[in-house]
Amino acid sequence: MDNGYYQMHEYKAPAWAQHLNHIPSHIVKLTSLNTPIHRWSLPGVPDGFQVFIKRDDLTGVELSGSKVRILQFLFAEALRHNARHVVTGGCLQSNHCRAVALTCRQLGLTPHIVVARVSKKEELGAKGNALLYRLAGSHLYMSPTCSYEAFSQRLRSLAGYISDKYREPCYCIPLGGASSPGMFAFITLFQELIEQGLFDNFDDIVVSIATGCTAAGIAVGNYLTGSKLRIHAVSIALSKEELTKRIDRMLSDIELTLGANDIMDIIDDYIGEGYGTATEGLLETITNVSANTGILLDPYYTGKGTQGLLEELKKTPSRFQGKRILFIHTGGIFGLFNGEMDRVMNLPGNHAYYINEWPEKDIPLVQ
Ligand SMILES: *Cc1c(COP(=O)(O)O)cnc(C)c1O
Repeated sequence: MDNGYYQMHEYKAPAWAQHLNHIPSHIVKLTSLNTPIHRWSLPGVPDGFQVFIKRDDLTGVELSGSKVRILQFLFAEALRHNARHVVTGGCLQSNHCRAVALTCRQLGLTPHIVVARVSKKEELGAKGNALLYRLAGSHLYMSPTCSYEAFSQRLRSLAGYISDKYREPCYCIPLGGASSPGMFAFITLFQELIEQGLFDNFDDIVVSIATGCTAAGIAVGNYLTGSKLRIHAVSIALSKEELTKRIDRMLSDIELTLGANDIMDIIDDYIGEGYGTATEGLLETITNVSANTGILLDPYYTGKGTQGLLEELKKTPSRFQGKRILFIHTGGIFGLFNGEMDRVMNLPGNHAYYINEWPEKDIPLVQ
């Protein structure tokens, strides 16, 4: 198959995962893996605890964040189906849609993006992720609010319509890439963590969670290798009850007879008003963390995850198995450019202490 320099390989699951069901057969290399782990001096961590960060935001530039790990499997499948078009969907600021659209163009495929909760062209704008999938020349389809099931159905119907219209194969990627290959992306991530010294250096893992795919893959990895750590998943949108239902389904899909709550600690106290709603407190956490540690968080995923980590360390330290905590930074940087940061950066008072008049008395201005 001629796909330029994008190499397709047969995928081999880690030895401890080879008995699972639905193991993807191939993988196409899209990212730089073995992302680094380093100490993270988060402000507000109680004495005794040490926080570290797995920089999975560094998988790439335009194809950055953990979602690209999933796409390596899904695009391998799309190419093996000889797809010329790819349909997917998500919310306006979806990291998934951005990564799919740009990957499509890099592989010579045409991206078709269904944008949820948008009914007028003017609402699309060109900020953050939306700018990037629009720059990829994606065909956009606006989809006003509907249920998760109805939206998934729309994606499948659109894929059928496109393959008929163009008489070329079209591959459909479900919302957010949540799928069994998705789980294997994070089972592979867990193997990467093991090779980086996970078992010797850490007691707990904390990660942000939307559909649950990322956390489930990590928790399965932990379970199958002897449950040495405790996995905490901070929800950014769904209730613990809803997530449990969805993750239970994913687990039975790969033939594991376990419940989500047997293998992970789901925390749903930091959802705020739901997906895509950033309180001022959250925006403050983001600015406080970047101003103190130089690490960028986003208002959709990693910001809420970090807020959850910091609050729980203070409120319920017994929730953690040990003192050495690894936070997985799943990416999402472009969400930070959705325009919302203006709300805190331009508030009188906030951040004003960073803005100085020119110290003319000491350094006269050269005219
Ligand atoms: C999608 C996403 C997540 C959540 O992943 P799920 O597998 O859906 O739980 C976390 N962080 C970022 C940056 C994401 O884009």
